[in-house]
Amino acid sequence: MSCARKSGSEVGVWRGRIRRWRVGLFRLGVLVAAMWAVRAAPVGGGRDAGGLLEKVSAVWPEVRAMGGEREGMFELLGEDGAGLGWVATTFPEAEGIQGYVGPSELWVAFDLDRRVRHVGLVASEDTAGHLRMVEGDAGFWRQWVGRGEMALGISDGPVVVSGATLTSEAMARGVAARFGAEGMESWFSARLGVGAVARWFPGMEVALEEEGRGIYQVMSGGRRVGRVLRSSGMGVSARGFQGVSDVVVVMDADGEVVSGVGLLDSRDNQPYWGDVVEELKYADGFAGKRVEEILAEEDASGFLLVSGASMTAGAVIESVREMLRRDRMAEAEGGVDWEVGVALAWVAAGCLFGLRGKGGKRGRWGFAVVSVAAGLWFGWMVGQDQVLGWARHGMDWSAVFPLLAMTGVALVVPAMTGKNVYCSRICPHGAAQVLAGSFMKRRFALRGRWHRVMERVPWASLLAIWALALLGSGLPLSDAEPFEVWSVGFQAWLPVAILTVGLVAAVFLPQGYCHYGCPTGALLKFLTHSPGRLTRRDFVAVGLVVLAWGFVFFG
Ligand code: SF4
Repeated sequence: MSCARKSGSEVGVWRGRIRRWRVGLFRLGVLVAAMWAVRAAPVGGGRDAGGLLEKVSAVWPEVRAMGGEREGMFELLGEDGAGLGWVATTFPEAEGIQGYVGPSELWVAFDLDRRVRHVGLVASEDTAGHLRMVEGDAGFWRQWVGRGEMALGISDGPVVVSGATLTSEAMARGVAARFGAEGMESWFSARLGVGAVARWFPGMEVALEEEGRGIYQVMSGGRRVGRVLRSSGMGVSARGFQGVSDVVVVMDADGEVVSGVGLLDSRDNQPYWGDVVEELKYADGFAGKRVEEILAEEDASGFLLVSGASMTAGAVIESVREMLRRDRMAEAEGGVDWEVGVALAWVAAGCLFGLRGKGGKRGRWGFAVVSVAAGLWFGWMVGQDQVLGWARHGMDWSAVFPLLAMTGVALVVPAMTGKNVYCSRICPHGAAQVLAGSFMKRRFALRGRWHRVMERVPWASLLAIWALALLGSGLPLSDAEPFEVWSVGFQAWLPVAILTVGLVAAVFLPQGYCHYGCPTGALLKFLTHSPGRLTRRDFVAVGLVVLAWGFVFFG
């Protein structure tokens, strides 16, 4: 009897779970349909000749008008109608080149000799904070000035802006793509072929099997005969005189002894990296050395001496040592890049604590310290600008893998379990509010009408942000949340103001920003509410998505 009751209750538990999963999948489907509508919606803003003229004449005051188009460029005219030069924009060639969350379009103005006079920004779909960092970096914009049109298509290692590398690098690649460079969607996009490593395995027919990001096993006759590390795949990008290089390290089957080092490609100046390639071919100082020996060497310059190209050679040495170091660390940690490993461990631990709800007040406080530290270190947060950027432009999976994993956890776990583990444990901004709240014993709460009005604010801002994205407003949507401050610092006043007000409020009003301001929190609330049961909110959400699709088709 008790056995039958037990199996009956188990069936009930499973029925409940399946109901929850079905509703969770339905809600995720609604979210995906909304993202797809944003992707399909017509892009607003973009190129308009008037706007472009305004931007050019702001830095080149003699320009008063734009003439006709020739060879993809518009003529720039002075007051008397005389030609002063030309202007080109980087779209559509740069349209597929992603920065942090989206592409950027630049304009390039030439004088009559087709030498670059000014470069500026037409429009960008990247995050506002990264964009501001790039806009404020004069050296970045000056790098093209004086160069001839033909030289722009040579992507020989651009100046990038530290802290906004993805955004600035994408812009520079966009300029190169517009003027003829190929393969700019990724610096080193070519697959690693057997031909690149065959010389270290003479007389063998070898094949490459990818073991991890940028790590390969070399197989021959069904057995492993070597290992290969590739810098671009491992995210190692030591910079030489002008740019980064794509380096491979070939090792024996056990990964103990280096067979040799090769330079696949480079954004450094050609004469320099050409010399390094030659040197590696005939006098590879790494060949035959044990990995430990290379890592232990204090003065590593002796491994690769190339007179006249010491910076390029130094970058190759640095890349080799960094790859070996990471490989060693990954082996020790079970094959995962340590930074990615730490990030994933943090997210996984937050997920576990959030699901189990264990640890009490102290545990929550302790994990809040971890999440704030991780937020400051990695700068990763799930925000609407990022979700909408991915919806609009897709993403570079390898570049944003840990952030993608975190977003997956933030969205999928609440939908499937009904527990909002991201807000309760992982979100660094939520954690910072927990810590801020621990300063004061006496706490306040909004009551009655104030509470009822204020709790609608996150939903209203969520709707407004998505509507603006759908309309292609071009407004910096990241300004509507405080999260970008965690990754790019104090770049824009609005996110800084929201962050400051939210943290100060949290001292008196527990999780004030979470309850009364956060649109991302509202989205996660939608995924979590009434697990296993469809409610009015679900029908409203479906109605809004239908409206969005109506706008896409008929708007
Ligand atoms: S509500 Fe917003 S700020 Fe608060 S924890 Fe959730 S995502 Fe973070």
